[in-house]
Amino acid sequence: MNSFDIDDTITKLSQISSQRAKVFSGHQINSISELVYYFPRKHLDRTNITLIRDVTRGNKFNIVGTVETFGERSTRYKKIFQVIVTDGTGLIALTWFNSIRFIKKLFKKGDTIAVHGKVEWYKGLTINHPEFDRLDHDDNPSNTGAIIPIYPLTIELRSAGIEQRLIRKTILEALNCVSSVNDMFNDLFIRSNNLCGLDESLKQIHYPDSIEKLNQAIYRLKFDEHFLLQIFMAMIKKNIKSEKTKALKDVGPYFKSIRNTLSFELTKAQKRVIREIHSDMKKNVCMNRLLQGDVGSGKTIVAILSTALAVGNNVQVALMVPTEILATQHYESFQKELSKARITCCSLIGKMNKKERKIIINNIEAGKISVVIGTHAIIQEDINFKNLGLVIIDEQHRFGVGQRNKLTEKGINPHFLSMTATPIPRSLSITYMGDMDLSIIDELPKNRIPITTKVIDSQRLPKVYSFIKKQIELRQQCMIVYPLVEESEKSDIAAAVDMYKELKQNIFPDIEMGVIHGKMKSDEKKSIMTDFEQNKIKILVATTVIEVGIDVPNATIMLIEHAERFGLTQLHQLRGRVGRGAEKSYCILVNHGTNEKSATRLGIMEETADGFRIADEDLMLRGPGDYIGYQQSGFIKYKIADMITDGPIIRKARKLAIDIIDKDPKLENHALIKKRVMIDYKDRLDIIKLN
Ligand code: ADP
Ligand code: MG
Repeated sequence: MNSFDIDDTITKLSQISSQRAKVFSGHQINSISELVYYFPRKHLDRTNITLIRDVTRGNKFNIVGTVETFGERSTRYKKIFQVIVTDGTGLIALTWFNSIRFIKKLFKKGDTIAVHGKVEWYKGLTINHPEFDRLDHDDNPSNTGAIIPIYPLTIELRSAGIEQRLIRKTILEALNCVSSVNDMFNDLFIRSNNLCGLDESLKQIHYPDSIEKLNQAIYRLKFDEHFLLQIFMAMIKKNIKSEKTKALKDVGPYFKSIRNTLSFELTKAQKRVIREIHSDMKKNVCMNRLLQGDVGSGKTIVAILSTALAVGNNVQVALMVPTEILATQHYESFQKELSKARITCCSLIGKMNKKERKIIINNIEAGKISVVIGTHAIIQEDINFKNLGLVIIDEQHRFGVGQRNKLTEKGINPHFLSMTATPIPRSLSITYMGDMDLSIIDELPKNRIPITTKVIDSQRLPKVYSFIKKQIELRQQCMIVYPLVEESEKSDIAAAVDMYKELKQNIFPDIEMGVIHGKMKSDEKKSIMTDFEQNKIKILVATTVIEVGIDVPNATIMLIEHAERFGLTQLHQLRGRVGRGAEKSYCILVNHGTNEKSATRLGIMEETADGFRIADEDLMLRGPGDYIGYQQSGFIKYKIADMITDGPIIRKARKLAIDIIDKDPKLENHALIKKRVMIDYKDRLDIIKLN
C-alpha cells in the first residue's frame, strides 16, 4: 500500500526533503501529480545509441560510455576543460570552453554517462559542449536493453543533488499511485478514439515497455493538452456567438456605388471574403472574424466595402490601427472611396488640436460622423458613439485583448473584424486564434510584378549603393531600414540617424534623403511621409516604424540592414512595402551574421514570396512567440504538445472539443473535463464564464 496519494505534496516521497521540495517548487512542481507530469526530454535505448567506432564527423549522436580521465588544458587562446570517454570501441573527448568552474565538479573517473551532441574532429573525435547525463552503471541501455528516461535538469536541480538517478527513482516511486488518477475521458471515448488510458500513458512516458508503447503514451498526453486548449477555445467562441446584436441585413446604397467605381477589378479572393463578412454581419450574433492576407493582397478595400455595408444599415464604424502614419494613410484611402458615396469619415490620432478634437467627438456622439479611423486614440474614455455597429482592427497582433475590448465596448456588441498581414501558420491559427472565424485572401492582384530579393554581405554594399543611384536617376525611390538593436548597443534610432548622416555625407551627397523613426513628433513624421510620397525625398532611412501599412507605389528598393536580426515574417512584411507599383522592385537583405544558420534562414527569402511558407519556416526556427500577443502568450499550458508537428492531433482534438461544447456548452455533463479546464486555465475563467 502507498502511504501517499496523487494529490499529496512531493515531500511524502522518500528522497524529497523539504529543501529539495523547495527547489522543485521553483519549477512549479509541488504535488506528486505535478511531478508525474514532469516528462523526460528524451529516452535512451539500444537503438538510438551509437558506438564510438561508428560515429561520423558532422553528425549528432547519442553515446554511452565511462569517464577515463578529465582535466583542464590551456590552448593558445584560452583554457578548456576536457573529459575523455570510452565505450570499449574507441575514445571521444568532450570539450567545454566556458562554465568550466561549474562543469568540472560534475565528473568522476569511472562514471557512466550518456552524451549527446555533434561529433567533430580536432586532433581526435570530440563533441563541444555536449548535453550529458550521468547514468547508473546497471542501467546502461546497451547492456540491459531497457529504455531509460532522461529528464531535463537545471543547474538549480543539480545543485540540490537532484540528478537523473534521483529523479528517476523518485518518479518511479510516485508512479505507484497513478492508478488512482482520474481520467477525464470515459472508456467509450478512449476506445473509439484509439487513445491509451491516462494512468498507463503516465507510466509509459517515463518507463516505456517498448518504443511503440512510448509513442502511444506521447500521443495521448499531447492529445490531452491540445484537447483542453480546444475546449477552452470552443467555449470562448460559443460565448461570443451567443452575444446577440443588430443584424446588418441590407446591402444598402453605398456598397454598390463604391464597388462599381473602383479603378480595378476585385480579385476572386477579395470577393469571397467580402461575402463571408457580409453573411456574418447579416446575422443577429456578433461577427468575430480574422481576415488574413499577405501584404499587398488588398485588405484595405475589403475593409472599406465592409464599412460601406455597415453604414448602409445606419450604424457607425470604427477602424483602429497601430501607428499614426498608418491611420493617416487609411484615412486617405477610406476618404477617397467613401466620399464617392457621401459617407462622413474622420481621423482621430493622439496629437490633435483640442478644439478640433472636441468638434469631432461631438459629431461622433451625435452620429453625424459615420466612420472613425484612428490609433488607440479612439479608445479614450470621452469618445462615445451613437451607434457603433462594426469595429475593425488592422494589424491585430499589435494590440492587446484589453484594447480590443475597450473599443468594442463603445458599441452594444458590435460586429468585429480583425485584419492581419502576418500569415499565421494554420496550426497556430486554430490554436491561438481558435475563437475566431477565418477569412483568407490567398491571391494577389494580377498586376503585381514579382520582387527580386537578394541576400548580400556588407562588402557588396558599394555596388548596391551605385545601383540605388541608378534607380533614383530613373525617378524610383528607396527605403533603408534598421532593426531594433540589442540592448547595450545604441538604439535603433541612433543607428538609423547615424547611418542617415553617413550616407548623406559620403555616399549620396546630391540626393534628397530623409530619416523617420518612432520617437519623432507626429507632424514631423507626417511631413516626411508626405515628402516621400511626393518623391521630394528619394531615400528614406527608417526604423521599423515603416513596417506596417505604408503604401508608396513609387518606392522600388527596400534595403534592410542587419537582416539577420529580423524574423522572416517581419522581413516579408517589410518587403511588402515595395512592389506596389508598375515598376520592377528589389529587396536587398544585408546579412551581418557570421553563422551559416542566418545565411540559410535568409536564403528562404530569396526562394519564396509565399507568406504562409515563410510563416511556417519562421515558426519552425523561432517558435510561436512572433505570432501571439504578449497577453496571449501566457495562456498556452503546453508541456509536451508541439504546435509545429502536431497538426493531425490538433485537428482531431479540435473536432472532438467542438462536438462536446456544441452539445454541452457549460460542460455540465463532463465534470472531469470541466475540472481540468478549471485547473489549467484558472486565470482565464472570466473569458469563458465558467466560474
Ligand atoms: P494590404 O493587404 O497590404 O493592406 P492594400 O489594401 O494596401 O494591401 O492594397 C495594396 C494596393 O493594391 C493598394 O494600392 C490597392 O489600391 C491595390 N489593390 C487592392 N485590390 C486590388 C485589386 N483587386 N487589383 C488591383 N489593385 C488592387
Ligand atoms: Mg494594410
